[in-house]
Amino acid sequence: MIHQIRHPETRNTKHETPNTKHQTQLIVKLFDSHCHLDDTAYRNDLDAVLDRARTAGVDKIMTIGVTRRTSRIGVGIAESRDGVYATVGIHPHDAKEGSEKSVDDLRRLAEHPKVKAWGEVGLDFNRMFSSREDQEKWLIRQLEVSETLDLPLVFHERDSNGRFVEILRERFRPGRKGVVHCFSGTRKELETYLRIGLSIGITGIVTVQGRGAPLRDLVPFIPLDRLLIETDGPYLVPVPQRNKFRCNEPAFVRSVLLKLADIRGETPEELARATYENACRVYSINCS
Ligand SMILES: [Zn+2]
Ligand SMILES: [Zn+2]
Repeated sequence: MIHQIRHPETRNTKHETPNTKHQTQLIVKLFDSHCHLDDTAYRNDLDAVLDRARTAGVDKIMTIGVTRRTSRIGVGIAESRDGVYATVGIHPHDAKEGSEKSVDDLRRLAEHPKVKAWGEVGLDFNRMFSSREDQEKWLIRQLEVSETLDLPLVFHERDSNGRFVEILRERFRPGRKGVVHCFSGTRKELETYLRIGLSIGITGIVTVQGRGAPLRDLVPFIPLDRLLIETDGPYLVPVPQRNKFRCNEPAFVRSVLLKLADIRGETPEELARATYENACRVYSINCS
C-alpha cells in the first residue's frame, strides 16, 4: 500500500509506505503509549497520520500534553477520535511557566473522560530550559494534584543525577501507577523504577546504531509486564524510517516493537500483546 506523505518536513522525500514488507505481514494490535499529536508537524495531515497508524495496526494512541495549551489541544484531538486518549501536564522544560492557575486549569481539563494520565512531568537537567528550582517545584505540585485525581503519571527524566528518584521516593505513594517514558537511564535507575512499581517506555532510540547501544543492553532486564512501546512522535524517528522521514508518527511504533522483539528473543506477536495490555493497564483503559 502506498501512502502519500504530506508533512512539510518530508515533502522532498520519496513517497513510500512507512512499513517494510515484513512489517505489514504482522497482524497485531499496537498501542503507541506516548506521542504529541498536537505538534505543528501534524497540523496539515493529522487524519492521514491517524489513518496510517490504523493501517499499521496501531489502534490506541496516547497524546501527551507538555503545557496548558498543548494539553488543551491534545484533549480536543482525543475527544473526537476513537482509540486516541490524552494526558495533561507541564513538562520540566516548561516549568518556568508553571503557576497555580495553570495547574488548576489542567485539573479541570483532566475531568474529561478521554484524559487517562497526568504528564509529562519530571526533571530534565540536560538542557535546563527551566531552572532546577522551578522544575522540582512543579513536579512536586503535579504529583500532589494528580494523586487527588487518582491519575497515573507519565514521567520524563534526563540527567537529574539521582534527584528525580529522590523526589519519587519521598512523594510518590507506593501503589500509584506510572511510566518512565523514553527511558535512557542506567541499570541502577531502571531497577529503582521497577522497585517503585513503574513501567518503562521505550522509543525508537533503541533502533539507532550508536546512540541506542546502552539502551539495547538494558532492555532484556525489563520484565515483560512492565514494558511499553512509544514513538514520542514527531521526535525520534526509528530505523529504518529514519533514512526516509524526518517526522516520526504513531505508525512507526512497529519498528520499536520489532527491534525489541529481536533483542529480547520474543515473537513480535507476543510482545505486541504484552505491551498493548501493559499500556491499557497503566492508563486504566479497557483493553478489548
Ligand atoms: Zn519526554
Ligand atoms: Zn514526549
